[in-house]
Order: sequence, then C-alpha cells, then structure tokens
Amino acid sequence: MAVKGAIFPLFCALVGGCFSAPSPLAPGLSGSVGMPSLGVQTGAVELPSRGPGFVRYRPHGKNHWGRPRLVSALERIAAEIDAERPGGLLVIGDLAAERGGKIPRHSSHRSGRDVDLLFYALTPAGAPLASPGFLRYESDGLAIDPGSGDYLRLDVAREWLLVKKLVSDPELGVQFLFISKPLEALLMDYARARGEPLELQDRAQTVMLQPRDSLPHDDHLHLRIACSPEEIQAGCSGGGPYWEWLAPLPTNQTTTQALLEEIAQDEPLEPLGAMPLAGTTPEGGGV
Ligand SMILES: [Zn+2]
Repeated sequence: MAVKGAIFPLFCALVGGCFSAPSPLAPGLSGSVGMPSLGVQTGAVELPSRGPGFVRYRPHGKNHWGRPRLVSALERIAAEIDAERPGGLLVIGDLAAERGGKIPRHSSHRSGRDVDLLFYALTPAGAPLASPGFLRYESDGLAIDPGSGDYLRLDVAREWLLVKKLVSDPELGVQFLFISKPLEALLMDYARARGEPLELQDRAQTVMLQPRDSLPHDDHLHLRIACSPEEIQAGCSGGGPYWEWLAPLPTNQTTTQALLEEIAQDEPLEPLGAMPLAGTTPEGGGV
C-alpha cells in the first residue's frame, strides 16, 4: 500500500511569486527548487535533439532542460526499448527551461521534474512509426492524425515497456505518470495478460493518474519525478505524494530514539541541597 501522505515544506508564497529562487540571500537552494507549478531550477542538463530510440518533438526548442537523472534515464530507457523492440521511436516533448520558471503551453514543467512523452504509435497494420504529434487516443486505442486523416494505433507493447522501465528505475523515482483512464486501462490489461509481477502492476497503477485539474492526457504520457532526499534538503518541494518504495527521506536527527532517551535521563534541575544559597556564589564563580 502506498503512502498517500506527504510532508513537504512550502517555499512559495501565494502572492508575489516564488521567493525560493536561489539567490545570494538563499545560497543553500539549488537543483530543483520549489514545486513543479511554482519553481525554478539550477544545474539542469539538456536532452539532446535525438539519440538511440528517441527524438525531440521540437528539435530546436529551448525547453528541454531537466534534472540530470531525468535526462539520463530518458536516454537510457529509450535506448533499451529500441534494443529490445527495434523499430519504434520515443518522441519527447518539453521538459523545462534551463533555469526553470513558466514556459509556454504548460502550467507545470517549471522545476525540471516534468516531461511530456508522446505515445509510441503503430499504423493500423501494426508497423511502428514516430508519433506525428499530440494525437488524442480514444478508449479503443485509436487516434486520427489530422494531418493525413489516417488512423494510428497506440503501441501498447512498447508503451507498457516504457511504463515498466520508468517505474522500475531505482534512481529516477517516478511520482506520477499522468495519462487518461481509458489508456491506463489498456496498459494494465496488457500487463495483466502478460502476467507481470503484481508489485510492478501495483506501482504502475498507483502512479498512473488522470489529473482532475488539467487536460485528460489522452495525447501524451506526462512523467513527473519526485524530489530525491538530497533535493528536498536543497529546496525541492514535492507537490504530491512520496511513495513508500522511493529512497527513504531524511529523518529528523533531533528526534532519534537514542537522543530522546538521553534527554529523558537529564536532570533539568539540580537537587535543592546542591543549590547555592541566595546571596552567595558558587565556589570559583562570580557575577
Ligand atoms: Zn503533460
């Protein structure tokens, strides 16, 4: 059972924008700072315009910067899928601006933890092809390409392989995979039919979510990674749940059991007999 609760510090005010941007006044903030919808980033890495198994949807776009572990996982996983099921191509949409903040077309994508992944696509006859754009897939897994008028089919096998690799990656730490409910159902039906491990199915089903406050995500898979424990200490703010299978969060050192016992054994007041009398000072002392 996943842990639904999450404890994250709030770094941003409701008015006046985010005051948590790294600055000379806040030198400790770095990396992914603030929340995905109200944050910035430092030390970002740019996804190349193409590589084994992937291509950027906007090859000349400026918003393909993200956390180093996100960018390296995208490159690694796309290459693995290409090796295991050659012929498909992962088309990758926007990540974030080099220094984060608001970018066109998105309300989140501000702190380097978000990326839009177009769906792996097939022709109706089953031949893989690079997704021509953000096409809306219906519950039967079919979409119409408005450019050509042709039907495309969701490549469920490659898409499930992508989901499986994302949620299984030990370093990536997926927080959400936003996707419409009908498409999630298609992927989970496929996973069940393949007899995938129940724990993997549970994780995938837990992180896949159709958001209530934005588009249904029937035209792409939106990956958001969680703050790592180190990032939280440097200013990353979750904006959502932190799943129990992710790396343990830092504990509050002041409340360890050993320290509590030590405090309990302390005598806050010395016995009355040992107290100096009023008007005198302890030996060797002075006022
Ligand atoms: Zn998205």
